[in-house]
Amino acid sequence: MILSDIVKHLMQNDNIGIISHVTPDGDALGSSAALGLALERLGKRVVVLRNDRLPSKYSFLPGSHLAVDCEKAPFKPDILVALDCGDVERLGSGVMHYEAAGTVINIDHHLSNTMFGNLNLVDTNAAATAEIVYQVIKLMGIALDLDIAICLFTAIAADTGCFRYDNTSIVTHGIAGELISTGVKSSEICRRIYSLRTLEQTKMLGRAIDSIKLYHDGKTAIMRITKKMMQETGCGQEDLEGVIEFARDIEGVEIAALLRETDDGEIKVGLRSNEYADTSEIAASFNGGGHRKASGYTVGGPMDAAVETLLDRIEKILRV
Ligand code: 5GP
Ligand code: MN
Repeated sequence: MILSDIVKHLMQNDNIGIISHVTPDGDALGSSAALGLALERLGKRVVVLRNDRLPSKYSFLPGSHLAVDCEKAPFKPDILVALDCGDVERLGSGVMHYEAAGTVINIDHHLSNTMFGNLNLVDTNAAATAEIVYQVIKLMGIALDLDIAICLFTAIAADTGCFRYDNTSIVTHGIAGELISTGVKSSEICRRIYSLRTLEQTKMLGRAIDSIKLYHDGKTAIMRITKKMMQETGCGQEDLEGVIEFARDIEGVEIAALLRETDDGEIKVGLRSNEYADTSEIAASFNGGGHRKASGYTVGGPMDAAVETLLDRIEKILRV
């Protein structure tokens, strides 16, 4: 079984690198820190390779002593574990470690995962990659301490909208219950990752909400964030996690999209759906990916052209 193979590899090797996707979210950061801490408990040399900036709201996560910039890795890992990452491109500058690693272990829950590892454990039923990391940690025989539990809980809460999205299963609640029993303060973590905002982030949210336009008889909601809006509010892309939910939550909307101008003139698109639309199909047609109800891709600008092409694509899958 692949899970036990992975555990065997981790137990048998001493130098382990952990990496996740660029623009890291709570699952990427929490899963990485949890696995890093667990392997450290086994006496392994562990590094969590950072390929992007850490969003300030996740700075409370334990395990920061294990993290270093990709370019400054203190040793060459025998094993690279990629977590929550659907394809090699999403590793960003971390791709150098992918190319150098002897063995790549790919643990993920994205429908669009390209199975890029030597060992691939992709469970699309898992609400978060952290649910799979929880199984790995258990099988390695490591007791859940409060630090590891905080990381896993944060990751699961982040990918389930604090247990609101329909990826939340009995398994999710079971794991969360066990994590809470170690002392995790669930309400505090949910507040930190879902409602706590700086003034700048709040102003940005206001501007993003103001930009919403509805199409297709109100079934599609489009949010646009320009570079100018980012400059004026003093926000970076790491300040936008969760903003798209305000478009998805509009009554009657099936598909919501957030389009953001990047520094290099491209457009980063985030997609969400409410009931039936498979947004990962839309994202895949633009070389992106993700889950049915949450996905993303990047295209060339300008913004208006990106919106038009996207609206055409969405129209084909909306039910009348
Ligand atoms: P978000 O909108 O929160 O950035 O991303 C939603 C989901 O889609 C996440 O699971 C994320 O990993 C995935 N995703 C976002 N952008 C991309 C992309 O460009 N390529 C792929 N493969 N997945 C993406
Ligand atoms: Mn995830």
